[in-house]
Order: sequence, then structure tokens, then C-alpha cells
Amino acid sequence: MNLEHINGLKTLLSLPKKIAIIPHKNPDGDAIGSTLALCQYLKNKGHEATVVAPNDFPKFLKWMPGAETILNFEKENSQAKSVLENAEVIFTLDFNHLGRVGQMTPFLESASATFVMVDHHQAPADYAKIMYSDVSMSSTCEMVYHLLDYLGAVEEITSDMANCIYTGIMTDTGSFKFKATTSTTHRIIADLIDKGAQNTAIHHRIYDTNSPSRLHLLGCALKNMVILEEYNTTYITLSQDELDKYNYSKGDTEGFVNYGLTLDNIRFAVIFIENKEEGILKISLRSVGDFSVNDFSRQFFHGGGHTNAAGGKSDLSIPETTKYFESLLPQFKKELTQ
Ligand code: 5GP
Ligand code: MN
Repeated sequence: MNLEHINGLKTLLSLPKKIAIIPHKNPDGDAIGSTLALCQYLKNKGHEATVVAPNDFPKFLKWMPGAETILNFEKENSQAKSVLENAEVIFTLDFNHLGRVGQMTPFLESASATFVMVDHHQAPADYAKIMYSDVSMSSTCEMVYHLLDYLGAVEEITSDMANCIYTGIMTDTGSFKFKATTSTTHRIIADLIDKGAQNTAIHHRIYDTNSPSRLHLLGCALKNMVILEEYNTTYITLSQDELDKYNYSKGDTEGFVNYGLTLDNIRFAVIFIENKEEGILKISLRSVGDFSVNDFSRQFFHGGGHTNAAGGKSDLSIPETTKYFESLLPQFKKELTQ
């Protein structure tokens, strides 16, 4: 974050403000952790701050300190709208273009507030007056820690905030194993533990909360896995009928896409998940090495993200989408196999 933006933020926050803090649609651990930690900090400084999420988030994140105060734009619509309308400052965290907030998009586009972006995805849009965008960062939660450092507020991190920030760094780094995990990330993690982050409990609450139906759904997903050895690629499909059969609830498919990458030689793994209500397939894409799933998703599936982890969507059926997907692979054969 450059000095101009740091000073701009200091000035912006020098008097108590009405503030809305927004994570992306289908918020994950990083989105919820970063918004809650920042919200807590701003409240402690005397601001009136509220997290407004575009929609609901998974059960395995509901224990997070402050999670019960998050407004759900879909379910608490009038309250959420009034927070957005009255906000003097809007922080957008863990996303970087206004198309990522579902039905909230027009309300953010017409808001009169000053926007602040904190995000680590590629290709940021330019709606924010104050921008902290860094694609080298492991997570938005790590950026919130740096942001607090820039504001001279690291010693104001409470144990609740430390638990939130720890969670987001942990989930976005695949428990500290992805490439963006640096020695600085680990130093921050150490400091967060010193400040009260309950690391063992957090791992347990996020990863050891399987239900029998989720494990059965995982079995179904793995059975459906298609392996395209010629392209070092695998994909999984899950239809709405299959999700219904195994009592799908939000968050149940989290992490399924990663199983593909555990196969020897596989460099590209994708999952296509049908959502009948929205009339789309939600797509998650993962890679190892230089093959950019961000570019691939941006080009073919209306999405984006990071080099090795991205999302997207398709308006076609599962068979049409997988046929289209397979038809795209030959042009990337060299990249995927050399
Ligand atoms: P996931 O596959 O876990 O939903 O998302 C992987 C990464 O891609 C995350 O960083 C997420 O924020 C981003 N992402 C997911 N879906 C989309 C999308 O539709 N558009 C864009 N631009 N990014 C996405
Ligand atoms: Mn993130």
C-alpha cells in the first residue's frame, strides 16, 4: 500500500464514520475473517461499522467472533440496503470488481460512499478511491494485518480479531502450503497466536466438521471424476439431483476440487457444480505450476481469481459444459504437458 493511500485512509478514519464492509458473494474463510476483523477494529475506534454479505456463508464459519452480526443482503434486505445507503465509507474486501457481489451490485454502483479496496486477486477494477491491491499476498486477511500495521494498530489486535485473521490466512493458503505463503506470513501467524488465535481449535472447527451426507457427496464427486491423462487434467461434475440426494448444504463441496490435484502428473483440476435455482453451473478451477486458471476462466467462463485458483460459471448444462471444456484443452496441451 503506498503512502498516499495510507495517509488518505488515516484522514478518512480520523473522525467517527458510518462504514459498511463487504465480502464477495458466497464468502469463504478469508472473506468472512477479513471483514469481521476489520469491522471489530473500526468499532473499537468509535466508528459505526457493519459487515453486509451478499448472501449466506457456510456453517463451518458461523463460530467466528462477530459472525452473528453480519447482515445477509438476501435475507435482511431492507436493513442491509439502509446500511449501504447511509454509509460514508464502504470497504470491499477479498474481491476487486463490483460484479462479484450478486444482487448487491447496483446498490454498490450507486452508493455515494468513499470506496476502499483491500484485495489480492488479479486485474482490479478502479472504483475505489483508496486501493490496497497486491496479488502477491497469501490472503486478504494477511493484508488486513499489514493494513493495521500501516495504521500503527497491530497492538490493537484483540484475540477475537486474531482468530478471524488466522482463519482467513489458514483457509486461503491451504493451511500454509500454497506458494504465496511466505516467512512473513508465518511471522504474522506467530504473532496472531501470541495475540490469542486458538490455532488448534480453528483447524478443528474448519476442517473436522464433516457430516455423513457430506462424506457421501464427496464419494459421489470422486466417482464422477473424469481423468484426461493426455492433458494432465481432471474434472468433477455434481448435478443438482446429486446434491439433493446427499442433502447438500452450503459449503459442503468446499475443497472437493483439490482432490484432482493429488493425482500424479495432474496440473489442472476443475469442478462443475449445478445450481438449478440460479440456472448456472458454478465452476472452481485449480492448477499447479504456471498454467493460469485466472486467464482460462476469464477467457472462457466469465470468472477469474488467482493464477492457481479461480472461479467461474457456465449457463450451459453439465454435458454441454464439459463438452465445451474438453474442446478447449487441445490449444493448451503444450502448457499442460511440457
Ligand atoms: P472458489 O473456486 O474457491 O470459489 O474460488 C477460487 C478463487 O477464485 C477465490 O479467490 C475466489 O474469490 C475467486 N472466484 C471465485 N469465483 C469467481 C468468479 O466468478 N469471478 C471471479 N473474478 N473470481 C472468482
Ligand atoms: Mn482471498
